[in-house]
Amino acid sequence: MQALDPQLDIDRFFQRVGHARERVLLLDYDGTLAPFHKRPERAEPYPRVAQLLRDLSRRCATRIVIVSGRRLADLRGPLARIPHDEAWASHGWEHFTVGGDRLGYEPPRGAQRQLQLAEAPARCLAMHGARIERKVASVAVHWRGMQPGAAERVRELLAQAWRGLAMDELALLEFDGGVELRARGRDKGDAVREILASCGPDAACAYLGDDLTDEDAFGAIRERGLGVLVRPEPRDTRAQLWIAPPRELVAFLERWCESGAPR
Ligand SMILES: [Mg+2]
Repeated sequence: MQALDPQLDIDRFFQRVGHARERVLLLDYDGTLAPFHKRPERAEPYPRVAQLLRDLSRRCATRIVIVSGRRLADLRGPLARIPHDEAWASHGWEHFTVGGDRLGYEPPRGAQRQLQLAEAPARCLAMHGARIERKVASVAVHWRGMQPGAAERVRELLAQAWRGLAMDELALLEFDGGVELRARGRDKGDAVREILASCGPDAACAYLGDDLTDEDAFGAIRERGLGVLVRPEPRDTRAQLWIAPPRELVAFLERWCESGAPR
């Protein structure tokens, strides 16, 4: 566990978790709670993580919110495995509410048109071994698990295929193991801001994430809580704390549990 921000006092943070009347834990799934799997439907949480989250929820009155880049339809498996109060999917474009409703945001028409144009040539890259994912507001091309040369070839072909797209309403974003063409307008930071807006000013909260797409969330939580980068290696980030999974992830959740349990 390593503070990346010299102003961070981690003992004080956990004291706050202990005294707060409201506790909120915002969590990415793939790469954060679960190691990556070439077939995402098989990505299981690290050992002990699901049980610790259950304890957090029951004994420490912690609200658990999953904030994932997956489509909500593809998040059903993880949501069945880990306790949660609500979930945000597709980088903030889909919301599975506390009441169990699915709310979706519509990307602007122009962006939808360009995403449609982007999808067909991306799908052709499946023959080179890439995995293509169409979400509410994006097209993602995954090359995780491919040989470096083949992955590079996919990257080049994709750059050629998407060269003619009108990019004013789209953003091209790298993530760990692929690239995503996404409508501008919403990201994980928006999901975090909306969750925080529903909390009292003194709520103790933290966001745990691993990927570049989690940086918007780290930026959004910075003023109110703790951003935690969960990764084997640190990197340039807006998170204030770095933990290496699974050992330090488990230690972080255990400490939250001990701090928040009723005395
Ligand atoms: Mg992730």
